[in-house]
Amino acid sequence: MTTHSLPDLPYACDALEPFIDAQTMTIHHTKHHQTYVDKLNQALSNFPEFNGLAVDQLMMRLADIPESIRTAVRNHGGGHANHSFFWPLLKRDVPLKNPVKAAIENSFRTYEQFEHQFSEAASTLFGSGWAWLVSDDGALRITTTPNQDNPLTQGLTPILGIDLWEHAYYLKYQNRRPDYVRAFFNVINWEKVNEHYERSMG
Ligand code: MN
Repeated sequence: MTTHSLPDLPYACDALEPFIDAQTMTIHHTKHHQTYVDKLNQALSNFPEFNGLAVDQLMMRLADIPESIRTAVRNHGGGHANHSFFWPLLKRDVPLKNPVKAAIENSFRTYEQFEHQFSEAASTLFGSGWAWLVSDDGALRITTTPNQDNPLTQGLTPILGIDLWEHAYYLKYQNRRPDYVRAFFNVINWEKVNEHYERSMG
């Protein structure tokens, strides 16, 4: 039984050009994300008791997952959850607005300070992983996770994230991760970030 499925991209694969190219988007979505979904379903195939759980719930309950499949669920479930979160966060030409604008200025003093600190964290993370802007009871901070881990499992609510695996940028930026991170700031869907922030405040 297949319980998890690949969500559609909420835009055309070339919608983020020139910042994120169409070929990268296509491969990232239809190959990489699809593989996380397939391998998650494969891992869960003999454990129907988890069929009813959405992937985010599954990640919050990793400790309840049988040990024989826990690493597979952590990695592939994490990949599915993170990419499902990531796609809708991307959109061109969306201005930063309240309430996140004010929250960023409260936590980082200025937007420029936030961008600087986020870029530093994203550019210097060793190996594959993600950088996040998380809400900790309304206060914002920057954190990183290795591989496909997610701050949700640490009790933090991510409101923005950037995929720092090479597959997210290598075709266009090769080894120049800082250039990809710089480009990312042009395609942040701040309306979606606001939605996540408002939800984190209950
Ligand atoms: Mn990815």
